[in-house]
Amino acid sequence: MTSIAPRLGRAPATVAASSLCDVSILVPIYNEQGNIPILAERLFAVLDRLNLSFEIIAVNDGSSDNSLAELKEVAARRKELKIISFSRNSGQTAALMAGFDYCTGKVAISIDADLQNDPDDIPNLLAKIAEGYDVVAGWRVDRKDDAVRRNFPSHVANKLISTVTGVHLHDFGCTLKAYRREVMTGVRLYGEMHRFVPVYASWQGAKVTEIPVRHHPRRFGKSNYGLERVAKVVLDLMVVKFLDRHLVKPIYVFGGFGLLSLFVSMISGVYALYLKLVDGVSLIQTPLPLATAMFFLVGILSLLLGLVAEMLARTYFESQDRRAYSVRDTVNCDD
Ligand code: UDP
Ligand code: MG
Repeated sequence: MTSIAPRLGRAPATVAASSLCDVSILVPIYNEQGNIPILAERLFAVLDRLNLSFEIIAVNDGSSDNSLAELKEVAARRKELKIISFSRNSGQTAALMAGFDYCTGKVAISIDADLQNDPDDIPNLLAKIAEGYDVVAGWRVDRKDDAVRRNFPSHVANKLISTVTGVHLHDFGCTLKAYRREVMTGVRLYGEMHRFVPVYASWQGAKVTEIPVRHHPRRFGKSNYGLERVAKVVLDLMVVKFLDRHLVKPIYVFGGFGLLSLFVSMISGVYALYLKLVDGVSLIQTPLPLATAMFFLVGILSLLLGLVAEMLARTYFESQDRRAYSVRDTVNCDD
């Protein structure tokens, strides 16, 4: 993942190829008591049928209810269930990030714990991966959430993300997605960013597709999100876009804006002088001198900010031994 995270992720990268299992199911869990036994039963029913080696990574995101106890009960019976328990609530994206870090599957599939996603869709996702896709996203064609608070804003957000990033999916927000291991190694996620993994992946040249999946109303517990999430997603989108295009040369953005501002300042200054000298209009009769000073200041400050951003970018790349490129494959370069 170039800009956001070209470096290989620690945990996944250290797993020897021979010890990889076929599929890892990643489940973020925050206060899902009641849902967990049913989810586990349904997941195992599907996975046992598939004849693959698998693990389920349940990430308990600091639940304050009985979720952890319910998980442990299942884990005592089934060793394939692995639990990672956070010391405090860190959000769904962080929970998925932990899943990516700890999983040992050749393919990872993320799924919500509240049974809104349907475990029966897992074989369909795997079939698409087998066709050669690197990321398969679920598309909740018939979404069973609140129309005004959730579905409409999400529709607008999906259109926006698709336009801005050029990655055309209908439903970035659906947790049910499958990722090939090469795609998720090295991904670093912040904020609400788990929905952008297909975007990073596609920018890296991965083959991304979507399939329709089922969606059910929540049975136990309540949704953790409302309208405020849209604002977060829009801000994250700006970060993703900015970091992708400009992380390597931030001075081009800040400096470009700074130079433009200095140019406007100059025009405004020259025009003010022209009015004074040719038409005899006093400098204090127009707002032009004020505009000149303002654009001059903004211009200089932007240039300086650009320099600071350049220093940050260098710290970022060099402190982590990152590169401005990411290599997919090499031939005859074994050393
Ligand atoms: N979740 C989490 N941490 C949080 C909030 C939610 O791990 O801080 C989990 C939650 O348990 C569920 C998934 O993320 O498995 C989706 O959450 P939710 O159902 O509240 O979102 P919605 O389906 O309403 O978008
Ligand atoms: Mg839900």
